[in-house]
Amino acid sequence: MGKVSKNAKVNRGAQKLLCSCGGEIQVKAVFENGKLKTHAVCSKCKKTGRRPKDLF
Ligand SMILES: [Zn+2]
Repeated sequence: MGKVSKNAKVNRGAQKLLCSCGGEIQVKAVFENGKLKTHAVCSKCKKTGRRPKDLF
């Protein structure tokens, strides 16, 4: 019986990320100079980072 292959990269968006302060991290994609960049912002302490991992 064949198994359905799962794509592990599809969990973007459904994941809840928490900042080191306990606040929820919101990831936003913005266009900057024609390039798509992601910004991670904590909804509690307003700390920002390029990636959600920067706020851990
Ligand atoms: Zn925070």
